[in-house]
Amino acid sequence: MPANILNLSAYDVLRFEENEHDYHIDVEAVEAPTSCPHCQSGSLVGFGRREQMIKDLPMHGRRVGLYINTRRFRCRICTKTFYEALPEVDEKRLMTKRLAKWIGKQAIKRTFASIAEEVGCTEFTVRAVFNDYVNELEKTIRFETPKWMGIDEIHLIKPRGVIANIQNNTIVELLPNRDKETVAHFLHHLEGKERIQYVAMDMWTPYRDACREVIPQAVIVVDKFHVVRMANESLERVRKSLRKSLTPKQRRGLMHDRFVLLKRERDLNDEDRLNLDGWAKNYPELGEAYRLKEQFFAIYDAGSPNEAQAKYLQWQKSIPPEIAHAFTDIERAWGNWAMPILNYFNHPVTNAYTESLNSLIRVMNRLGRGYSFEALRAKILFAKGVHKHKLSRPKFERKPVNKRQAEPVTHGWAENFKSFWTGNSFARMVLKPPPRPKPYIPKSTENAEQEKNYGADISTLIRMIENGQL
Ligand SMILES: [Zn+2]
Repeated sequence: MPANILNLSAYDVLRFEENEHDYHIDVEAVEAPTSCPHCQSGSLVGFGRREQMIKDLPMHGRRVGLYINTRRFRCRICTKTFYEALPEVDEKRLMTKRLAKWIGKQAIKRTFASIAEEVGCTEFTVRAVFNDYVNELEKTIRFETPKWMGIDEIHLIKPRGVIANIQNNTIVELLPNRDKETVAHFLHHLEGKERIQYVAMDMWTPYRDACREVIPQAVIVVDKFHVVRMANESLERVRKSLRKSLTPKQRRGLMHDRFVLLKRERDLNDEDRLNLDGWAKNYPELGEAYRLKEQFFAIYDAGSPNEAQAKYLQWQKSIPPEIAHAFTDIERAWGNWAMPILNYFNHPVTNAYTESLNSLIRVMNRLGRGYSFEALRAKILFAKGVHKHKLSRPKFERKPVNKRQAEPVTHGWAENFKSFWTGNSFARMVLKPPPRPKPYIPKSTENAEQEKNYGADISTLIRMIENGQL
């Protein structure tokens, strides 16, 4: 049996057994300890052995157990006994360090159960290793704090808060819930939070309260998408309230034509128009609801917050009392969120981002089965290849002319400076020393390219989920 079958040079392989499922490998550390860990004396004597079973990376589809023949020693000087330290072993887990690392990486793309099965450990162990692995990642991977931040809702088993970088179209954090405390805690610990300029959000009061408290400088903006969709919901309410007065055949017709109702007027074709006119003639309330929906969308053609507010008030006055019940949600939302809604007209920051986030939300339900929230969060934030990096290199600087001369400029400057200081003391009082030329220091590649990580790229996430890579 070759000694390197394990590719662990710190161990000698003594014996090797296999069966259908497992490899059992007896090993011994190559190097014996040379000094006492208590008093550093080199005077040691053997004091027995014990066998420890340590799990290692699965090989050839089999689980691997290393039976380490661990030697015990006694120190002749301080009389204390100790076991030799085992290289490459994560003693907390009774597994090799490389196995722990492998489990962490695998757990981002596979279920805990399948890993536990392959390694021959419990799901509990996989979860514990994974948690440690994610904690390590969090220490080493730092996402840039967005200047334009999005806070929205995403459904992963239950509703969660999702924090996005709007300018870069990336996700930087997933929060376990949408509570004010959770969001405030996250913002509070965010490095550079004082540089956040805008926060775009859906109309969820805990988000707003948390932002006002922790990042009061940030302008809160409610995205157009979250506002206008309420007009569609109002129209749907009117349509549904009509159903009772319809025959089954008419009901089916209206169900069929609801897509026409939800279309924008400018997108209607001739057939749609005919349909819509028919419904409006027979059911004026439906016609009115359609008009209100269209006019509500048209508020977003306004060029300023003032114009938008005026258009809104005009719109509000035009709601007929018979269908007012269907539009109370909009009126309430506008009442409570007027400023953030109107901020959009000065800072329409969110268009492309909202669209891609909605696409992500649509494919998200393909994830989820068999995973905890923590695992899903890690999958999304830390999956391999998902991060959007930008290399921020310093500006190209032209080499100073002097550098190309044989003599470095600093030398000549030093000579001048010396003769200046050795001159008379009067000159020293009235003259300033000549300005010191900046030496040209070629920057090493390491210093020159500072890589910034903007988080998990939303379009990459969508592609990976669609291809089943996540
Ligand atoms: Zn000792």
